[in-house]
Amino acid sequence: MTQTTASRRVYLDHAATTPVRPEVAEAMLRFMVTDFGNASSVHGFGRVAKEATENARAQVASLMGARPEEIVLMSGGTEADNMAIRGAVLANAGRGRHVITTKIEHHAVLHTCEGLEKEGLAEVTYLPVDAQALVSAEAVAEAIRPDTVLVSLMFANNEVGTIQPVAEVGRLCREKGILFHTDAVQAYGALPLDVDALGIDLLSASSHKIYGPKGIGALFIRKGRKVRPLITGGFQERNRRAGTSNVPGAVGFGLAAELAMKEMEGRRRRLVALRDRLINGLVKKVEFTRLNGHPTLRLPNNANLSFEFVEGESILLSLDMKGVAASSGSACTSGSLEPSHVLLAMGLPPEVAHGSVRMTLGTGNTDEDVDYVLEVLPPIIDRLRAMSPLHAKVVAGREARKGG
Ligand SMILES: *Cc1c(COP(=O)(O)O)cnc(C)c1O
Repeated sequence: MTQTTASRRVYLDHAATTPVRPEVAEAMLRFMVTDFGNASSVHGFGRVAKEATENARAQVASLMGARPEEIVLMSGGTEADNMAIRGAVLANAGRGRHVITTKIEHHAVLHTCEGLEKEGLAEVTYLPVDAQALVSAEAVAEAIRPDTVLVSLMFANNEVGTIQPVAEVGRLCREKGILFHTDAVQAYGALPLDVDALGIDLLSASSHKIYGPKGIGALFIRKGRKVRPLITGGFQERNRRAGTSNVPGAVGFGLAAELAMKEMEGRRRRLVALRDRLINGLVKKVEFTRLNGHPTLRLPNNANLSFEFVEGESILLSLDMKGVAASSGSACTSGSLEPSHVLLAMGLPPEVAHGSVRMTLGTGNTDEDVDYVLEVLPPIIDRLRAMSPLHAKVVAGREARKGG
């Protein structure tokens, strides 16, 4: 972005990606340099790679209460979403072709659904959300048709952090015999989750959101559920995903998952404290500021705020000059001038949606980082608002009312 002259660097974009933990990077190195074998080979080099991959699969499975053979390793959350939705629709075409999802899903889900509609392979219902970005289980129930084959509801939203009623929807789908997919990329490793207790048939997870490497993720496919592979070729991943196994990636993902499981409660407590201090501090210091998303059903690390009368992009550039990395909506839509589809679905007026900033904390953030943002952000908003005729008008109107 811009030239940074700041003395401090504060990374607050962990929903976009996280740094790889040093011990994770170190564990991976061995499977690139020394034990570099192809996990499909029968010789010793291959067996070592295979064993490491299977160990990683078990670690990834354990963090969601799944069995290792239900985990398909692939390139990331996007591929997992693609395979879950397209693969389930194609494999279950005999039962119907209606899909239920929501307006606030990640584009990996939305664009896959839209593609299936264009190809004439599915009819999709996109459920609305309330002002806190919550989907109602009743709305899911009402949308179910005799030909509904799949419900796809994200576990927690990547932009505003709202945690969805996954258990209720899972129970509903189980009763009706409908496949239930959840994009849990933001929740996996951050919240306790158990695929059996929650009635989940398909779950997407990604390594680089949990301090593992980029380019690897997983789709959980419950035993007995039918999903058509997207990538064909060799017989890897029990014929469900072809291509030479990404052994270093798997090893890194597995270790990151194990660390997330061990550290989950401690991380959660720390992040919630930092998050709430950040949110409350900004709401108190900066008038015309609102929190987007649910106040309590919320990811531990997510703060998404709208600062009225200013452009989110301008805030981001100013923050970047101060060494603070934040985001407006999702990384995939920033750069475009479209307001976030999530904020619009929540009913935010476009001009307020434009003034939104997402700050997502991570394990490396400290109290000092939060202090720094609370120090540098309010003057940025003041300076930008000084250029807003609308802000001047609103303040003048208020002063006049006070005076008269
Ligand atoms: C990041 C993200 C994805 C995409 O995962 P990749 O591994 O980057 O492809 C999908 N869904 C959600 C909710 C995400 O936050």
